[in-house]
Amino acid sequence: KNVIGVDIGGTKIAAALVNQDGSFSHEIVIPSRVEDSEEMFLAVCEAVDKVIDRSGILNHPFSMGIGVPGLVNVEAGIAVFQNNLPWTNFPLRERLTKHYVMCETVAINNDVYQAAYAEWWHANLGKEDTLVFFTISTGVSSAIIKGGSFQKGKGFAGEVGLLPIKKIKGNQYLTLEQLASGPALAETGRLLYNDGTITAKEIFFRYRTGDPKASELVEDWTETIALGLYSVICLLDPENIILGGSVIQKNPDMLDVIQKKLNRLLIPAQKERPTKISISQMDNHAGLIGAGLSAFSSEK
Ligand code: ADP
Repeated sequence: KNVIGVDIGGTKIAAALVNQDGSFSHEIVIPSRVEDSEEMFLAVCEAVDKVIDRSGILNHPFSMGIGVPGLVNVEAGIAVFQNNLPWTNFPLRERLTKHYVMCETVAINNDVYQAAYAEWWHANLGKEDTLVFFTISTGVSSAIIKGGSFQKGKGFAGEVGLLPIKKIKGNQYLTLEQLASGPALAETGRLLYNDGTITAKEIFFRYRTGDPKASELVEDWTETIALGLYSVICLLDPENIILGGSVIQKNPDMLDVIQKKLNRLLIPAQKERPTKISISQMDNHAGLIGAGLSAFSSEK
């Protein structure tokens, strides 16, 4: 079975031919086009077209496994609500099936769930292990695997990005996502430096040169991530938390700093049986691989 895995994010779309053993080939990454819902759909098709082209499966049947951020109606294949994409109730499966005559099935799920599944599988965890996959990218989100399956709630479980962290005025709070995502960090940096070109990457670069403003930004950022992790630990006390998303994966040295800040929050009883916190070893491909693997186990 030919399976194309597609990981749709607020910054980029990654697609590749994914095999049942989790290996993949012909990966293509293109920028998301978040200004318009049709443009965004066309960007997804462009990524898929390129994989079809490069892998030589044109005129061969294939299936797709897709990861989309936010709330997804898995049964209906609809992207219901996305904070960082221009889609609301977007009938993604229907649109893709119409667009690709050779496409047999399209499995759609939340991107973080799919990444979490791939991490769980990659780390060789068992049913007795609770895993929280925590991603820091264009957005901040998490997915919980407990007892071998996802903790879904009514559809929005794991949205740690929505946690209120910092009071600004009156009853208004900034959320974890509004403070700690890549775009949020960049925006705070732009204000501090009074320079509209600053990126999250540049802030970490300046931090390593000892720049005091960057130190302030990164100290605040690591503190915020530690608070988010602390909330997760208080609620779920998981054995494992794996961190993913470009902002942390490209700066793995930040884990130590975060861990130290987290240790200051934990009470002694929590420290006695610590949660193992690590950075994804999947080189930011967990979402893509998880999306592909979901197509193997799905009939849709
Ligand atoms: P997506 O959200 O589309 O899944 P990513 O996981 O790559 O994509 O996250 C994108 C965010 O990561 C952007 O805000 C980008 O600025 C940020 N980012 C990319 N590279 C780095 C880096 N080296 N250091 C810090 N942030 C980065």
